Amino acid sequence: MALLVQKYGGTSVASIERIKQVAAKVAAAKRAGKDVVVVVSAMAGETNRLIALAQEISKLPDEREKDVLIATGEQVTVALLSLALKEIGQPARSYLGHQVRIETDNAYGKACILSIDSTKIVEALKTGEVVVIAGFQGVDENDNITTLGRGGSDTSAVALAAFLNADACEIYSDVEGVFTTDPRICPDARKLAKVSYDEMIELASTGAKVLEIRSVEFAKKFAVPVHVRSTFTELEGTWLVEEDDSMSDVLVSGVACDKNEAKITLLRVPDRPGLAAQLFGPIADAHIVVDMIIQNASEDGTTDMTFTVPKADHQKALAIVERALPAVHAKGIKVDTEIAKISVVGVGMRTHAGVAAKMFEVLAREQINIQMISTSEIKISVVIAAQHADQAVRALHDAFIR
Ligand code: ASP
Ligand code: MG
Repeated sequence: MALLVQKYGGTSVASIERIKQVAAKVAAAKRAGKDVVVVVSAMAGETNRLIALAQEISKLPDEREKDVLIATGEQVTVALLSLALKEIGQPARSYLGHQVRIETDNAYGKACILSIDSTKIVEALKTGEVVVIAGFQGVDENDNITTLGRGGSDTSAVALAAFLNADACEIYSDVEGVFTTDPRICPDARKLAKVSYDEMIELASTGAKVLEIRSVEFAKKFAVPVHVRSTFTELEGTWLVEEDDSMSDVLVSGVACDKNEAKITLLRVPDRPGLAAQLFGPIADAHIVVDMIIQNASEDGTTDMTFTVPKADHQKALAIVERALPAVHAKGIKVDTEIAKISVVGVGMRTHAGVAAKMFEVLAREQINIQMISTSEIKISVVIAAQHADQAVRALHDAFIR
């Protein structure tokens, strides 16, 4: 029998009313002849509420206990959804991460899934039950509860689909799919019927928040067909699939905007071997992900070095840089949190030239100054002042997509 993994996000389970709606959808899939494994998030706002509780006690809560706490949000929703399913006559069974054994490493708050034991799930499916599994959580080898990072239920769902060899993984939320850009910024944005894993990885990492990035990497690695769609309509959403020939005809499939980064500049760093290692080593040790890095050619033996980090980590990064300052002999530090990273993404760039030039032209016409540039095979990103972000997105969407 075909096996479907369905994941419902926080807004889809935000109230008892909505949980009942989800139960009806799940039961309908089951009636249509599918085996169904459901993964749920916590009710909308719940994870934030729990984090705030911990912060009332401690500014930097102990990571193990924080995971024990924030994993409870999903315990509520698996139970409620299972109850709702049973209530309408659909046998169901809830499981927490450690009960099925979704094993992760021990990086609290950003744990990675290592393996999933499917025994209990498969047994329950055989008896006709729908299996409802708590997203976002797992257990390490010493039985400590771990969580996967914000938005981690997507990863739980795709990982389950991979380990269970499901026919598809449906990600239900309040958005209808993956759009060419954020429809709230650009009214001309339209829904993509399909998008390649690589494009989605770039879009997710450059600010399109439909899917958590690690879930896309997982989907790519195990070639899981993922269908991103809305809980509240019956419309087809967007399919994440492997790249095919038809895709390379499209130069740019999406324009993404990320306002969650901050820029740190070290002024007049001596230009000699080992400095970058001295600086970025401790930042990596603190698990801070550095995105763009720019170092200029030096004229007088010194150079400015600029890099971006997640805004949420920029204080931490700054403290590390300040500590390293005497050793790297920089003349000073500048921080800018009012930046936006705008990216154009498309597999067509592999085979077509001129996308970067056109992007710069469009921004020039809009009189928008580019502060940083970085590229990959299928993406061009620029950092600009945050105040011009929406204008840039609209102009680029207009130029490349409409
Ligand atoms: N409840 C978790 C969060 O809010 C996980 C998720 O929703 O995917 O981040
Ligand atoms: Mg979510």
